[in-house]
Amino acid sequence: MALIACPECGRQGISDQAAACPACAYPLAPQAREPVGRGGRPQPVATVEQTGKRWKAMKVWAGLLFVGGLLVIFGNVRTPPSTAGIVFGVVVLLASFVLAVRAAIGAWWHHA
Ligand SMILES: [Zn+2]
Repeated sequence: MALIACPECGRQGISDQAAACPACAYPLAPQAREPVGRGGRPQPVATVEQTGKRWKAMKVWAGLLFVGGLLVIFGNVRTPPSTAGIVFGVVVLLASFVLAVRAAIGAWWHHA
Protein backbone atom coordinates (compact mmCIF):
# COMPACT_ATOMS: atom_id res chain seq x y z
CA MET A 1 0.00 0.00 0.00
CA ALA A 2 1.36 3.41 -0.95
CA LEU A 3 0.35 6.95 -0.26
CA ILE A 4 -0.52 9.13 -3.23
CA ALA A 5 -1.50 12.73 -3.89
CA CYS A 6 -4.93 13.67 -5.18
CA PRO A 7 -4.62 14.71 -8.85
CA GLU A 8 -7.63 17.01 -8.44
CA CYS A 9 -6.93 19.03 -5.25
CA GLY A 10 -3.30 18.04 -4.59
CA ARG A 11 -3.95 16.66 -1.07
CA GLN A 12 -1.04 14.43 -0.01
CA GLY A 13 -0.96 11.15 1.88
CA ILE A 14 -4.10 9.49 0.54
CA SER A 15 -4.11 5.69 0.53
CA ASP A 16 -3.90 4.30 -3.00
CA GLN A 17 -6.63 1.89 -1.90
CA ALA A 18 -9.08 4.74 -1.24
CA ALA A 19 -12.01 4.88 -3.65
CA ALA A 20 -12.17 8.67 -3.53
CA CYS A 21 -10.18 11.66 -2.22
CA PRO A 22 -11.30 12.43 1.38
CA ALA A 23 -10.90 16.16 0.74
CA CYS A 24 -12.67 16.69 -2.59
CA ALA A 25 -14.28 13.29 -3.26
CA TYR A 26 -12.37 12.96 -6.53
CA PRO A 27 -12.71 9.29 -7.61
CA LEU A 28 -9.43 7.42 -7.00
CA ALA A 29 -10.47 3.87 -7.84
CA PRO A 30 -7.56 2.26 -9.72
CA GLN A 31 -9.41 2.04 -13.04
CA ALA A 32 -10.62 5.63 -12.75
CA ARG A 33 -7.33 7.02 -11.45
CA GLU A 34 -4.86 5.55 -13.94
CA PRO A 35 -6.03 7.16 -17.18
CA VAL A 36 -7.39 10.44 -15.80
CA GLY A 37 -4.31 11.66 -13.90
CA ARG A 38 -2.57 14.79 -15.30
CA GLY A 39 -5.31 15.44 -17.84
CA GLY A 40 -4.56 12.34 -19.89
CA ARG A 41 -7.16 11.14 -22.35
CA PRO A 42 -7.26 7.32 -22.18
CA GLN A 43 -9.66 6.59 -25.06
CA PRO A 44 -7.75 8.27 -27.93
CA VAL A 45 -4.46 6.75 -26.74
CA ALA A 46 -5.94 3.24 -26.84
CA THR A 47 -7.37 3.88 -30.32
CA VAL A 48 -4.05 5.16 -31.65
CA GLU A 49 -2.28 2.12 -30.22
CA GLN A 50 -4.78 -0.22 -31.86
CA THR A 51 -4.59 1.39 -35.30
CA GLY A 52 -0.80 1.65 -34.88
CA LYS A 53 -0.62 -2.09 -34.31
CA ARG A 54 -2.77 -2.66 -37.40
CA TRP A 55 -0.38 -0.70 -39.63
CA LYS A 56 2.63 -2.29 -37.97
CA ALA A 57 1.17 -5.74 -38.69
CA MET A 58 0.63 -4.64 -42.28
CA LYS A 59 4.28 -3.53 -42.50
CA VAL A 60 5.39 -6.88 -41.09
CA TRP A 61 3.35 -8.67 -43.78
CA ALA A 62 4.85 -6.38 -46.42
CA GLY A 63 8.35 -7.27 -45.18
CA LEU A 64 7.54 -11.00 -45.21
CA LEU A 65 6.13 -10.75 -48.74
CA PHE A 66 9.20 -8.80 -49.85
CA VAL A 67 11.58 -11.46 -48.49
CA GLY A 68 9.34 -14.21 -49.87
CA GLY A 69 9.30 -12.58 -53.31
CA LEU A 70 13.10 -12.27 -53.32
CA LEU A 71 13.46 -15.93 -52.30
CA VAL A 72 11.07 -17.03 -55.07
CA ILE A 73 12.99 -14.97 -57.66
CA PHE A 74 16.44 -16.18 -56.58
CA GLY A 75 15.12 -19.71 -56.29
CA ASN A 76 14.09 -19.55 -59.96
CA VAL A 77 17.18 -17.79 -61.35
CA ARG A 78 19.06 -20.90 -62.49
CA THR A 79 19.81 -22.64 -65.74
CA PRO A 80 17.35 -22.73 -67.32
CA PRO A 81 15.54 -19.96 -65.43
CA SER A 82 11.88 -20.58 -64.66
CA THR A 83 10.10 -17.59 -66.20
CA ALA A 84 6.79 -18.40 -64.50
CA GLY A 85 8.56 -18.64 -61.13
CA ILE A 86 10.32 -15.29 -61.63
CA VAL A 87 7.06 -13.62 -62.73
CA PHE A 88 5.38 -15.02 -59.62
CA GLY A 89 8.24 -13.65 -57.47
CA VAL A 90 7.94 -10.22 -59.09
CA VAL A 91 4.18 -10.21 -58.48
CA VAL A 92 4.79 -11.07 -54.80
CA LEU A 93 7.40 -8.26 -54.62
CA LEU A 94 4.96 -5.77 -56.16
CA ALA A 95 2.28 -6.88 -53.70
CA SER A 96 4.70 -6.26 -50.82
CA PHE A 97 5.38 -2.74 -52.16
CA VAL A 98 1.65 -2.03 -52.46
CA LEU A 99 1.11 -3.31 -48.91
CA ALA A 100 4.03 -1.21 -47.58
CA VAL A 101 2.73 1.95 -49.30
CA ARG A 102 -0.79 1.19 -48.08
CA ALA A 103 0.51 0.77 -44.50
CA ALA A 104 2.53 3.99 -44.70
CA ILE A 105 -0.42 5.97 -46.06
CA GLY A 106 -2.79 4.35 -43.58
CA ALA A 107 -0.54 5.13 -40.61
CA TRP A 108 -0.08 8.71 -41.84
CA TRP A 109 -3.80 9.16 -42.46
CA HIS A 110 -4.85 7.87 -39.04
CA HIS A 111 -2.17 9.77 -37.10
CA ALA A 112 -2.44 13.14 -38.86
ZN1 LIG B 1 -8.81 15.75 -3.74
